[in-house]
Amino acid sequence: MSEMVHTDPATGLPTGTVAAFLTLAAALVALYPTGGTTEHGHPEFRWLCLGCGDRGYYAEQRGTARNRANSHAAECRAIPWPSASA
Ligand SMILES: [Zn+2]
Repeated sequence: MSEMVHTDPATGLPTGTVAAFLTLAAALVALYPTGGTTEHGHPEFRWLCLGCGDRGYYAEQRGTARNRANSHAAECRAIPWPSASA
């Protein structure tokens, strides 16, 4: 549920991010693999919004997580937040 998300220090995106969707306010929603597999043996993915911090509640197969990430990006108006380490 509250698993740590490891991020790439160069990009600030979750490690292994395979796609990123742009919100209305130019924040990114990252699609990344959890490292786990679905009950059918496919890689599991989750999404994380770098604007508002919302995330996919469940790990899901790629297509489903991708669609949810894209839907969130289409609705989210949170602005990109400066990194505390910058
Ligand atoms: Zn958001």
